[in-house]
Amino acid sequence: HTAFDVQAIRQHFPVLNRVVKGKPLVYFDNAATTQKPQVVIDALADYYKNYNANIHRGIHSLAEEATAAYEATRDTVQQFIHAKEREEIIFTRGVTESINLVAYTWARTNLKAGDEIIISGMEHHSNIVPWQLIGEMTGAKLKVIPVNDSGELIMEEFHQLLTEKVKLVSVVHASNSLGTINPVKEIIDAAHKVGAVVMIDGAQSTVHLDIDVQELDCDFFAISSHKVYGPTGIGVLYGKRALLEAMPPFMGGGEMIKDVSFEKTTWNDLPYKFEAGTPNIADTVALKAALDFVSGIGKATIRQHEDALLKYATEQLQSIDGIRLIGTAKQKVSVASYVVEGVHPQDLGILLDNQGVAVRTGHHCTQPLMNRFGIPGTTRASFAMYNTKEEVDVMIAGLHKAIKLLR
Ligand code: PMP
Repeated sequence: HTAFDVQAIRQHFPVLNRVVKGKPLVYFDNAATTQKPQVVIDALADYYKNYNANIHRGIHSLAEEATAAYEATRDTVQQFIHAKEREEIIFTRGVTESINLVAYTWARTNLKAGDEIIISGMEHHSNIVPWQLIGEMTGAKLKVIPVNDSGELIMEEFHQLLTEKVKLVSVVHASNSLGTINPVKEIIDAAHKVGAVVMIDGAQSTVHLDIDVQELDCDFFAISSHKVYGPTGIGVLYGKRALLEAMPPFMGGGEMIKDVSFEKTTWNDLPYKFEAGTPNIADTVALKAALDFVSGIGKATIRQHEDALLKYATEQLQSIDGIRLIGTAKQKVSVASYVVEGVHPQDLGILLDNQGVAVRTGHHCTQPLMNRFGIPGTTRASFAMYNTKEEVDVMIAGLHKAIKLLR
């Protein structure tokens, strides 16, 4: 293992020098979005300063440079998730668009009345609502894998739900609200046995876990750049080539066509068939800088640091009277979600902000999961590579203060 120097890591993130309400910023809202290292900010500025141009169609030098940089990110993403071919990497706006792309192309054309879609009880709204919309269009029914008291999927129930009627299984790899890492390999293998296609929401897993889509054998995998230290507004849909080839396009327009006439239009080859219009070039280019930055440090090294923080924070939280952790799965990414007896998460969030501590409060876009636990929401601290034990101490001290005030 290379030595992990968190203070050296912090130097890469300018925003960490911020002062909030007179206190040094403690940024624990990483599951919502991560902060950006200087290399990502530089990549954005460099693109606009030096080679901004529209891609693919130009033959002038700037267009060639911009195209090369945009396509280089595709290669980096391919390696980052171990996809077999670069054509299987489609750029989208994020996980939400990646899921909707699959819903409105693959699902809309392949599902019919009587078919079933399985999701889980811990899905983000973006992995619930698109399937409800497609269900209304096609008559396909939604089935839900229940969650146990620790915040783990009840796998026996999943295997019960998995019949020949199931055509699609779409589950989150790691829960944004609880941190739970789901046994996606088991889910994928079982779903394939009944002939179902599997989509994995990698919004939270990609930053913490090594992702190998070939080893997982998932059919689709969705990524958000902004949760992997990259810019907002850019994401990825990975799909197996055969499925992507057979799917109709998502949006029509420039770039996604081969030939257009008023009588008949033919589609461009992968991946361009799914990238209509001028894409988000600058943010795509900067995503490469983010992924290279993460790979340069090493996900395993980062994970070790984050796991230690999670363990420490969990112990500290459990030592506070009246705090209940929501999500105590054996396998977790660095998310600590909790409720304080007699205290509304919102009030807690405001008081923590007064101490410079940024946490997320509320339902985290997982209302059905909150209902499952009988709570309106939680306070969530989620840790990234640049967080420290001392910052956890600041949150814990802030909690003691807040509880004294609010109870
Ligand atoms: N799924 C999960 C598990 C998430 O955490 C998020 C982001 N909160 C999303 C989907 C949606 O991602 P985006 O907003 O980047 O499209």
